[in-house]
Amino acid sequence: MNEYDSNRIYDLISTIGFKRTDKKKEADCFVLNTCHIREKATEKVYDEIGRVKKDFKNSKKPLVIVSGCVAQAESEEMIKREPYIDVVIGPQSYHKISDIILDYQRKKKQVVETEFDVVQKFDQLKKVSNSGNKISSYLTIQEGCDKFCHFCVVPYTRGPEYSRPFDQIISEANQLINSGAREITLLGQNVNAYNFNDNKRSYNLSSLICELNEIKKLKRIRFTTSHPKDMTDDLIECYKDCNKLMPILHLPIQSGSDKILKLMNRKHDIKYYLQVVDRLKNINKNIDFSSDFIVGYPGEMDKDFEDTIKIIKKVGFINSYSFIFSPRPGTPAAERKMNDLVENKKRLKKLQDILKSFQLIKNKKYLNQECKILVENKLNQQEKYFGRTKHMTPVIFESNGCQNGDLINVKITSFNQNNLFGIHFNKKFQAA
Ligand code: SF4
Repeated sequence: MNEYDSNRIYDLISTIGFKRTDKKKEADCFVLNTCHIREKATEKVYDEIGRVKKDFKNSKKPLVIVSGCVAQAESEEMIKREPYIDVVIGPQSYHKISDIILDYQRKKKQVVETEFDVVQKFDQLKKVSNSGNKISSYLTIQEGCDKFCHFCVVPYTRGPEYSRPFDQIISEANQLINSGAREITLLGQNVNAYNFNDNKRSYNLSSLICELNEIKKLKRIRFTTSHPKDMTDDLIECYKDCNKLMPILHLPIQSGSDKILKLMNRKHDIKYYLQVVDRLKNINKNIDFSSDFIVGYPGEMDKDFEDTIKIIKKVGFINSYSFIFSPRPGTPAAERKMNDLVENKKRLKKLQDILKSFQLIKNKKYLNQECKILVENKLNQQEKYFGRTKHMTPVIFESNGCQNGDLINVKITSFNQNNLFGIHFNKKFQAA
């Protein structure tokens, strides 16, 4: 979502004359769009500002803006701790960024803007076209979360659930497609909680997917991140009815222990999660699952951890994310006694080794097979291309003729832990 937000921030400030630059030392404005999910996020922001300060020690100070969830969580504290920062702007107020910059340039007075103006944000964003021109593009459809998992800051930094108007999303999707997108990933912190009512009709995520599925030039649809509780029947049916919806679902489980899920306030148990997996597998036998795991959540005992290993083996997750629990200030879990770090590290390694082995088994299955790849780009200074399988696995391949955005068959000739390698042979170019 931060990548989407960063692009939209750029769209907004380009209307008042700013342009992207790779020449960091020549920039006259830095926007640090921050994420609060990972550990030590706040410290990383101050470190980055320290580097900017050093680079500009002997030249004119650039305008320094901190946006995103760290800005929301830290608010005024940021300016108190680091007066080099000029503007602090939360993720639900960044639509005001151009006015704030112009105002700052006039008054030279530091600004902190952390209101939850999410409705106005998307109203404002729809007036500025999305300049994203990647083959695979993101589109935010929903923000915020009402689930309040005990370890998570999202409900505090992004606020309550908000779903964008259906027509606004379809219009932005068309803009992206017209500027080259062939795959769209619908985004939301709780994307499958999407629900919009325009007084005539109620729309949910399945309505959006079905509508996008009809757009001719669009080739692939994905969505992330989902909560197991919001995997409704109509959404599950999309995996049968919508041929452009890719058969991989990122469905965070966090732990394989009901005791820990309860402590986390996850609102689902293992039985329920496995029922969702079964329903999806029955609808589409090709579907794979990826997930998120928190290792060493306060109170996790050996048995709880072993239950997590069991569920990984049972579902056979691929492409998953796993971290040792780290407390986020202000969340209920931050008040709990931490587990032993050495033990946590051992557990994480065991869990990641198993996840890696499943990824490798999955990659090996592709060997000597032809698989459908959406071509995303040509690799710099190489006669090779990059694309992904339906299941998101990256593929690097040689081709005698393909273009970005083509959906082609690539024969897989080798693989490693993270990538597949192959050859695309275009008969059209053979004759020439
Ligand atoms: S459902 Fe996801 S975003 Fe919402 S509180 Fe839980 S972990 Fe955070």
